[in-house]
Parts: sequence; C-alpha cells; structure tokens
Amino acid sequence: MKKVNVIGGGLAGSECAFLLATHGVEVHLYEQKPVRYSPAHKSENFGELVCSNSLKSDDASANACGLLKEEMRALGSLTMQAAENSRVAAGAALTVDRDRFSAYITQTLKNMPNVTVHYEEVTDLSLPPFAGEINAVCTGPLTSDALTEYLGKLTGTPLYFFDASAPIVTKESVDESLSFYGDRYGDGTGDYLNCPLDKEDYDAFYAALISAQTVERKDFENDRVFEGCMPVEVMAKRGYDTLRYGPLKPVGLSAQAGRKLYACLQLRPENEEKTMYNLVGFQTNLLFPEQKRVFSLIPALKNAEFLRYGVMHKNIFLNSPTCLNYDQSFRSAPSVFLAGQITGVEGYVESAASGMLCGVQILRRLKGLEPFHFPRETVLGALASYVVTPNADFQPMNANYGVLKPITGFEHNKKAKKAAMKDRSLSIINQIKENLYE
Ligand SMILES: Cc1cc2nc3c(=O)[nH]c(=O)nc-3n(C[C@H](O)[C@H](O)[C@H](O)COP(=O)(O)OP(=O)(O)OC[C@H]3O[C@@H](n4cnc5c(N)ncnc54)[C@H](O)[C@@H]3O)c2cc1C
Repeated sequence: MKKVNVIGGGLAGSECAFLLATHGVEVHLYEQKPVRYSPAHKSENFGELVCSNSLKSDDASANACGLLKEEMRALGSLTMQAAENSRVAAGAALTVDRDRFSAYITQTLKNMPNVTVHYEEVTDLSLPPFAGEINAVCTGPLTSDALTEYLGKLTGTPLYFFDASAPIVTKESVDESLSFYGDRYGDGTGDYLNCPLDKEDYDAFYAALISAQTVERKDFENDRVFEGCMPVEVMAKRGYDTLRYGPLKPVGLSAQAGRKLYACLQLRPENEEKTMYNLVGFQTNLLFPEQKRVFSLIPALKNAEFLRYGVMHKNIFLNSPTCLNYDQSFRSAPSVFLAGQITGVEGYVESAASGMLCGVQILRRLKGLEPFHFPRETVLGALASYVVTPNADFQPMNANYGVLKPITGFEHNKKAKKAAMKDRSLSIINQIKENLYE
C-alpha cells in the first residue's frame, strides 16, 4: 500500500486524508492539537471551524460557493458529508453545529483502518519520518512558527503574514456611465477603471467611512498588520483630505475625464478576462455589510456586486504562483504538496476544496499519472488555477464567479448566467469524475 503523510487535520488536511484513504492509500495524519493550539483553535477535533459556523450559501444556481459545494459533493467530499450530518436551519446558507461537524470528520477518519493519527507538531520535513516520503502540508493560516520557518526556507521566498486585501467587484456591476478607463497621466494601457467623486459625493463617502463599524481584531493580530498597508478608514481618520492625496487622488486623471476631478478611485483588473476589479488602496477592516454600504456611496459603485470583501487579519499564506507546480507540489521539493488556506484560497469550503484537489493530484502521482488540469469552467478548476497564476498582488481568493471562465450570451440576465455556469460546471464534473484516476 502506498503511504502519504498529511500534516494538519483542519479542513484541507481532513479532506485530503479522506480522499487518499478512500482510495486505499496508507495515510499518516499529523495534528498538533491537543499538544499545541494556535491562538484561534480551541477544539481537539479535526475540521475545526475557528470562527463562524456558516459554510456560506448552498445555492448552486446563484452562488459560486454553493456551486463549489455541489462539485465537491459530486466528488465525494467528507466536508460536505459532515455538513449534511450537522446542518442547522439557516435559510440558503449551509450552517452547521460546529461540534457535530468536527466530531463527524474526526470519527470518520479515525474509523478508517488505513488512517493512523499522530498527535504532534511537525517542524521539519527533511527529517524522518517525512524525508523521502510524500507529504501534504495542510497546516492553515495559523501554521505553527517552526513549520512556517521551515516552509520559508523551502520556498526561498518570504511567507505573507497578513492578509490585507482590498474588496473586489464584478466589472458588470460598475456603472459605466459614471466611470471611465485610463491610466494616471495617460501612461500604460488604459486598463484602470476610474470612478470619480464630486465634492458632495466625497463628503457623504468620507462621513460614512470615518464612522463605519470595523472588525474587532484578535489579540494575536498585533500591530504588524499596519506596517505596510494602512486600512482606508484609518487613513481617512487622519484628516479630511488624506484620501485625496492617497487612494482617491485625482491627479493625472482629470485630462482623461475631460473635467477637473475632485477625487477618484481607481479599479484595477484582477484577472486576465477583466471580469473582476480591485478597489486600489482600499484594504480595510470594516465589517462586510459596512463595506457594501460605504463603498457603494461612490457613484459608479452604487450597484456594485462585491465578489470579495477586504480583510485584514493574520493569515500565513505562500506566494504560491512563485513556488508551486499546478498539482500543488513545491517546485523546489516535488514530494511536498501544499493545500488549504496557506496556498492562497480563502474560506472554509475553499480550503477543504483545496485539500480535495491536492488529494486528487497526489493519488495521480502515486499511480504514475500526469497532474489533472481541472477545467476553469468549474469552481474547483478556477481556484486551482488562481493559486498558481502569476499575480503581482497575490492575495487569498474565495469562490466567486469572477475566477470562473466567463460564459457568453447572458449579458442582460445574471440569474440565467449563473444557472448556465452551474450546468456547465456540473456536467464537466460528472464527466471527469469517472476517469479522474485513469
Ligand atoms: C481567525 C480566523 C477566522 C476565520 N474565520 C473564517 C470564517 O468565519 N469563515 C470562513 O469561511 N473562513 C474563515 N477563516 C479562514 C479559513 O477558512 C479557515 O482558517 C480554515 O480553517 C482554513 O482551513 P485549513 O485547512 O487551511 O487550515 P485549518 O483549518 O486551520 O487547519 C490547519 C490544522 O493544522 C494544524 N497545524 C498547524 N501547524 C501544525 C504543525 N506544525 N504540525 C501539525 N499540525 C499543525 C492546526 O492545529 C489545524 O488543525 C478564518 C481564519 C482565521 C485565521
């Protein structure tokens, strides 16, 4: 029987271990709890949900995370089984009883005869019993310090310690009549989408921003979060005009607008197809509903659809495009694979999905097969591709329609478009699941 070490029994590690064990692999699952806990983990069980007990929407026709769940169900996900088993009523969201959810995952893995659990912190994969073996590192955004240091050496690039990302909106939701394309001073290729604010707009936006509610940070998320990247609301509180000299500076844009601008937000394309745009310089600690309320006061964003909200919290993740192969193995150490939030996906379900993708690729490696390229028409494939696609501002990404391969023919009917994307994805998943390991 082939053997694989899975390090970390969180969402990704549990999913990866389950997939491998289901296919007859001898799995050694290493988990540091209860010997050592991160500041956010509290339970001894695998698959612990450290914060919310919601796995987000379960509507595959209207939400990309819902679609991802459906894809995972089709491929036999343990996370989805556990969620079904511990579901609590919460409308369209898949919300779970966290204790039952984790207990289900723990018991399932422990009951598998080819899974051996080791309760210990792993610090160095160059030593036995890891050296020369296939190892899947799934240690999450709060990976222990010693292993973080080891991974830093392995990649030769610094790890990113804080997630300080600005919100992302869909291009189609930005009001074209209230925005214009162009680079500052006319330099570049005109890819930025500029959203002007007149004085009255700015006044209303400013007043809302400085009084908006922010996320309460945890003790361990110390002030290093502010080193390089100041939240837009903190910047705003420094003075009325600070943003007009920062992320809302109009300089170099008035000529292209054809009028003198008072303030202007630039949106930068987030993907090659330019279906998603990033609010440049708007990293923020505002609560998600507050982000929607306040940023929608920018006239061109009044109907903006937010694909990802800005976040600022401790989050260890690798600059995966610079160090991982498509199959999530390290270029510098091909027998070491990486999965979960640490690869640059964001969210419980996305992390579990990443563990599933990693399991598939490891299994294929064990069978002497080439890595399987999941089509970008599926959310699984879109996330797999996102984490290895070069990106100057690589930040963790959740499941959203913007990362999926675009679909044409539904320009004026969003509902029909999402439903078509669902059908397209699930028909691909149902085809590929039959020969994923051949
Ligand atoms: C504070 C915080 C709150 C979050 N809240 C949410 C939320 O509400 N909703 C959401 O969708 N996402 C949330 N996330 C993001 C993310 O979805 C979760 O962190 C998710 O659990 C990541 O899954 P994972 O498998 O990558 O890591 P984890 O689930 O964290 O699993 C990693 C496991 O590895 C173990 N481990 C770490 N180091 C070692 C080591 N050296 N040796 C052995 N074991 C080790 C840990 O004990 C842990 O069990 C949050 C993240 C953080 C940090």
